[in-house]
Amino acid sequence: MTAAVSEHISFNPEKLREKYREERDKRIRADGNDQYIEVTGDFSHYIDDPHVEPGFERDALQTRVEVLIIGGGFGGMLAAARLRDTGINDLLIVEKGGGFGGTWYWNRYPGASCDIESLVYFPLLEETGFVPKQRYTNATETLEYCQVIAEQYNLHNIALMQTQILSTDWSEEEGLWVARTNRGDVIKATFVIHSNGPLNRPKLPGIPGIDTYIGHTFHTSRWDYDYTGGGPFGGLDKLADKRVAVIGTGATAVQCVPHLAAGAKALYVFQRTPSSIDVRNNTDIDAEWVKSQSPGWHHKRRTNFESLLAGIPVKEDLVRDGWTEAFRDIFGELRQYRPSGWRLLLWSLGWAFSSARKERGIKQYLTDKAMIKMGLQEKMEMADFTKMEKVRARADSVVDNAQTAESLKPYYRQFCKRPCFHDEYLQAFNNPNVTLVDTDGQGVEAFTEKGVVANGKEYEVDCIVFATGFEVGTDYSRRAGYTISGVDGLTISEKWADGMATFHGLHSRGFPNAFFFGPQQSGFTATYTFALDENAMQTAYILGELKKRGAKRVDAAEKAENAWINTIKRVARQTEEFQKSCTPGYYNNEGHVEFESRNTFYGGGPIEFFNLMAKWREAGNLKGLEIS
Ligand code: NDP
Repeated sequence: MTAAVSEHISFNPEKLREKYREERDKRIRADGNDQYIEVTGDFSHYIDDPHVEPGFERDALQTRVEVLIIGGGFGGMLAAARLRDTGINDLLIVEKGGGFGGTWYWNRYPGASCDIESLVYFPLLEETGFVPKQRYTNATETLEYCQVIAEQYNLHNIALMQTQILSTDWSEEEGLWVARTNRGDVIKATFVIHSNGPLNRPKLPGIPGIDTYIGHTFHTSRWDYDYTGGGPFGGLDKLADKRVAVIGTGATAVQCVPHLAAGAKALYVFQRTPSSIDVRNNTDIDAEWVKSQSPGWHHKRRTNFESLLAGIPVKEDLVRDGWTEAFRDIFGELRQYRPSGWRLLLWSLGWAFSSARKERGIKQYLTDKAMIKMGLQEKMEMADFTKMEKVRARADSVVDNAQTAESLKPYYRQFCKRPCFHDEYLQAFNNPNVTLVDTDGQGVEAFTEKGVVANGKEYEVDCIVFATGFEVGTDYSRRAGYTISGVDGLTISEKWADGMATFHGLHSRGFPNAFFFGPQQSGFTATYTFALDENAMQTAYILGELKKRGAKRVDAAEKAENAWINTIKRVARQTEEFQKSCTPGYYNNEGHVEFESRNTFYGGGPIEFFNLMAKWREAGNLKGLEIS
């Protein structure tokens, strides 16, 4: 039976569920994260910095600071900004790149830009008074904005660039951390903030022959403009006589493929799983409108956006774009429905497939009355089906070749993978020089000396671009690129060998005075800068309180940490079925959903998590922390 959800969209939910299951099942691999190889040894050139002149040298430093911040991306910058606001100024930022920006420093591939509205994504907009030019900003403007923040908060003179931390060791005797760098520096710091980026370490597929291909290769996060010509806005003129392969079709590939298509003699796009490609519709921002907003508008806007994504009712959808559409569509009903708190929580999380629902007749979906009777999870699923049907219909309407259009349709729920928004990606497949190599979920099989093998066929190419993403879910130190040894020399890798153990995602017992920024056991937002800002504000609050109380040491209490782990596990279970239903990717640990490992974010959603933290701060008693 078909659900006619709107005049133009109709579908059979049961058939879609079956199709989603089939598509997931063909992609699940026993090796999960192990399918990727670490970028080290013979592969370490993949992470060389293309943005600095080689040969930079300086004398080694021996220094002592109050707070060492590892990472000069938005997390590190926000930490410094919020600490400065709290009156803590003895700071040192250590960054391996040649400048501020983190992910935006590295990812300067052609077309790199942000899908989250810039008025939501850019942090500190009210503090800096900066107005982005367009609704969806690009990597170049984002890097410029990082300079604005760095100047406003005087960060350049507290930063050590092109410097990689190798180790941080806790000295109980001295009550401080000792950090060593690849430039021979020894930095002693009372507190260390680890803001090394959740998507910092490029990954490569561990495919036979990866080391035998003799053509040119690079990873998208280290784009080789010397080879391709052009720049972040395209014009890849040196590719005119080149056959290029792109491996991967995630958010990065979606943005660079149109430029490769325009520049290369021939482009082969190797697809394992298609992304959801919705309308982007970028527009200019009215600076006068921004300036006319009342104080607090920025926090209100990002909270409104993330609330909608978390399924929390708001009076109005302030952003009104492709991210919020599915959620917006059911808000009218929600207002009539007046759900209780726990139902909202379930709705926000979830997504579970109940067997009861399967037995329900489709007619239930067709009238408002029935919609009100229907569980919130079911409504979410129907809204999701509707949304994804629109996305799939878009492929048909944009792509000329019907088979290619079919291959480009994603069959999973919108937030199983990072949704993409682009107005030139699908269109690129209409270019005669572009071939979509659909591997039907199996991926590239091998590399030869001359090219790429997929579906049993060799494609000879001059260059392979790896748009294969970043390590998530591997050992923390491996991703960070340095070791962390706490009390009695216990390393973070040892402590977290069987799963993360933190209090609020920020502290880990036995690693006093260390603060871990990131989404694990913490709030996970689509607007990643929002979560980092919350990390920064929480840290600044705690360090401010320690200062007031004359304390020099803070660690998570054992009981509080254990309780937090239990909370994480308990709340995570509510998203378990949804995660298991998804096609594999880094959002669901490559399809190996093991919440007992605790390596997951706070399952109640980021807004609930931020509210918990705000209440914790309001209580003012640092409950769960041992200070001395
Ligand atoms: P992803 O991890 O999202 O994508 C990696 C791609 O490589 C996937 O398509 C994956 O397929 C594919 N792949 C891996 N192994 C193989 C193989 N053996 N054969 C063929 N394909 C393979 O990385 P991205 O760099 O695209 O994006 C990372 C994140 O960065 C995004 O999720 C987003 O959070 C952020 N980002 C945001 C942007 C924005 O705001 N617009 C832009 C760019 C990045 P499969 O899906 O089957 O695993």
